[in-house]
Amino acid sequence: MSKILAVPVSLLVVALVAVACASSHPVARAHAVLRPATALPGDPSAMSRPTIRKLDADLRDAVEAAARAARKDGVTVILNSGWRSAAHQERLFREAVSRYGSEAEALRYVATPDTSAHVTGDAVDIGPEQADEWLREHGADFGLCQVFANEIWHFELATTPGGTCPPMYPDSSYRG
Ligand SMILES: [Zn+2]
Repeated sequence: MSKILAVPVSLLVVALVAVACASSHPVARAHAVLRPATALPGDPSAMSRPTIRKLDADLRDAVEAAARAARKDGVTVILNSGWRSAAHQERLFREAVSRYGSEAEALRYVATPDTSAHVTGDAVDIGPEQADEWLREHGADFGLCQVFANEIWHFELATTPGGTCPPMYPDSSYRG
């Protein structure tokens, strides 16, 4: 973790879709590389955001390491969503049911609070598409794998660093 301190915080900009995440929790400078786009340069506020702070530590470290490597290739990795509360996930699922017309169809795009890896802090949604493509090619070097064939932005720790990613589920309904 301490190696991250050597990385200029300006190397990675993390945009947060989630709002209302502000808190006064202690900042962990080790994770300064993951921070919202709205933070001032040099403001290590990432860990004040539950969407980052409540991620599994190994996943967070892997995303940070991948983001630094991607940056060397000229690719900026943006964390659009990480940990989500069960209530937030339930809202997303209900919105999807409205949008797609049935729970069965919604499950192809949004998991329930009981099954979502975001709720346990074990998944990240990464953008922009260039970063997704970079991670599809290089993510396994860090243990990061695309899990669902229809979600190019969703990554989880699913292999050992340098390993091979398991076959993807067609969509999130298959994991159930
Ligand atoms: Zn996701």
